[in-house]
Parts: sequence; structure tokens; C-alpha cells
Amino acid sequence: MTFISMQHIEKRFGDQEVLKDVSLEMKRGEIVSIIGPSGSGKSTFLRCLGQLETIDGGTITVDEDVLASTDAQGIVTYADKSKAHDILLRMGMVFQSFNLFPHMTVLENIMVAPRMVKGMKDKDILPIAERLLTKVGLWEKRYGYPSQLSGGQKQRVAIARALTMDPEILLFDEPTSALDPELTGEVLKTIKGLAEDHMTMIIVTHEMNFARDVSDRVIFMADGIIQEEGTPEQIYGNPTSPRTRAFLESML
Ligand code: ADP
Ligand code: MG
Repeated sequence: MTFISMQHIEKRFGDQEVLKDVSLEMKRGEIVSIIGPSGSGKSTFLRCLGQLETIDGGTITVDEDVLASTDAQGIVTYADKSKAHDILLRMGMVFQSFNLFPHMTVLENIMVAPRMVKGMKDKDILPIAERLLTKVGLWEKRYGYPSQLSGGQKQRVAIARALTMDPEILLFDEPTSALDPELTGEVLKTIKGLAEDHMTMIIVTHEMNFARDVSDRVIFMADGIIQEEGTPEQIYGNPTSPRTRAFLESML
């Protein structure tokens, strides 16, 4: 059964067509990586699913809930605020920049969303927060501040923070791009751990080897369209599009 369905997504910024008919269907537990040159629309596509951008055409559904749909006249209709918010709560997002609150401890950073958004009580959040900090290997840093952490540790806190909301899918937008090379491994290892737990994930990444290892499916996007998609074996082993081949050669 389809979990996430994005059909014929179109997005323009001014007169620039950034997404031209991009479609993606995912089942629960699937891991899809999106690769491609910068400026190809990868972030925009993810941001449309995460409600950080509105679409100009197409349909987005999560299970049976329609977030946005487009009629035959090309008029886009969004779900009402409360339904859109419910859909949003089912997703966790992790970005290149970690966006931690600098004046809060690690523990406070990951407790704030369940408290503010879900109205949960601290005594109920604390065991979850501590379990997740243990999972990302940062329990001993719980009373530290973001400024005392490395970039890799900050990103692991950001992942734990996304997980405290108990999302059904995680969206990663280049989670290691802001990190020094020696720190990417610990973040990729954390994401791999989630993959082993069968977390549903969409991962936009420039880490080609990681995408090959972790994904069920790899999408190569360029110029606002999906140029090619397939299993990692197909995409890396036998790409059909010369464009994919050239991109991979430039990256590997
Ligand atoms: P990618 O993530 O693949 O690098 P993006 O989705 O970030 O690509 O961007 C695709 C194109 O859309 C780029 O040309 C970018 O400049 C443009 N773009 C992205 N966001 C905006 C925005 N908020 N306003 C105007 N143009 C944007
Ligand atoms: Mg991007």
C-alpha cells in the first residue's frame, strides 16, 4: 500500500520552473535517496512534501489524507489548516544546518517540540528524550549546550529532536553537507541505524556511497525532472541515461 504519493508536482519561482512534473510513490519502510547536481530541485521537492513550499500543480497524499490536489483547470487546493498540521506532524525533517536553540541544553532542545506542539508533560517526554539521546550516542552530552558540540554531534541531536515527535517518515536534506569530512561518518552511521529500524526515509545527499548502501531506490534528478530512478544496483551499476552516468562519474 502506498504511504506517500506525490504526483506530477510542479513548482515555479517567478518564471523559473523548478519542478516540472515530478512524481514519487513510497511504501512504509522504504528508503529513497535523491541525488543530482545542485540547483536541480531536490530541496524544493522535499520542501513541498514538508509544507515549506506550496506546489503549483500536482497532488500530494499521505495514506488516504490529501494534502494538496490540482483540478482539471490547474487550480491547486490545499487541505485545511488542521488537517495539514496533522499531516505535518507525521513527518520529521533534518536539514543541512542543524538549527538548534543555542541557549538551550541538548536535552531541552529535544524536549521542546513534544512539549510545545503536542502538549506532552516533561515527565512523559524525558524517558523518550533520554532513550533517543542514547540511540544517537549523546546521552552523556545531555546537559551540554550546542556550542560545546561538534557539527556531527549537533546533527545527531537534530536527528534525535526529529525522532522525539515520533514521525512516520524522516526527510533529510543533505544532512552531512555542512560537516567536516571526518564528521560525516558518525551522522551517516546514525541514519544507517534508523534504516535498520525500518524507518521510512527520503534522503537528499551528495554521499554517493552512502546512498548506494542504504537506499531501496535511488532517484537521479536534474533540471527539475527525474532523469532516472531504480535500485542502487541499476543506477550505480548500469545507468541508462548518459546524464546519470556523467553525474556519477563526477561524484565517485
Ligand atoms: P537543489 O536542492 O537540487 O540544489 P533547489 O531545490 O534548492 O535545488 O533549487 C532549485 C532551483 O530553485 C534553484 O535554481 C534555486 O535557485 C531555485 N530556488 C529555490 N528556492 C527558491 C526560492 N525560495 N526563491 C527563488 N528561487 C528558489
Ligand atoms: Mg538542496
